Amino acid sequence: MSEVFDCKMCGSCCEGTGGIVVSPKDLNRLASYLAISEEQVIERYAEYVGSKLKLRNAENGCCIFFAKDQGCQVHAGKPDICRAWPFFRGNLIDAESFAMAKEYCPGIKQGVSHQAFVEAGYAYLSREDLVAHDGTQEANALILQ
Ligand code: SF4
Ligand code: SF4
Repeated sequence: MSEVFDCKMCGSCCEGTGGIVVSPKDLNRLASYLAISEEQVIERYAEYVGSKLKLRNAENGCCIFFAKDQGCQVHAGKPDICRAWPFFRGNLIDAESFAMAKEYCPGIKQGVSHQAFVEAGYAYLSREDLVAHDGTQEANALILQ
């Protein structure tokens, strides 16, 4: 994917509990991808946590769209926060968070410096329209201002 990141499809980032925010833009994209209504997406796959809509987890604790050995079942329709990893706000503004992300995610190239990661990250987020602005409905990890 880039000189700083190349996903190894290990699935670790889809196995954590909670946290996958579904913004209005994401909801629209998921509904189109699944060819169902936005209401049906919410009913079947998501839940409100405070003001934010989030993907539900399956019984095994993984994201409801994650299938072991197959990966994301909605890859082309997945939410912005999934598209943005590992270029989350914390990893861009804090070198220690970046170092921890490097240990957790084998897709981040080991030799890359924080500065190179930051430059590549901002360019990627901007190019892919992954910078969020509304903290009430979008993922905080995507809010860069
Ligand atoms: S943890 Fe990193 S390498 Fe593994 S699937 Fe997620 S992004 Fe890819
Ligand atoms: S939507 Fe796809 S990429 Fe995002 S956490 Fe779920 S399985 Fe992983």
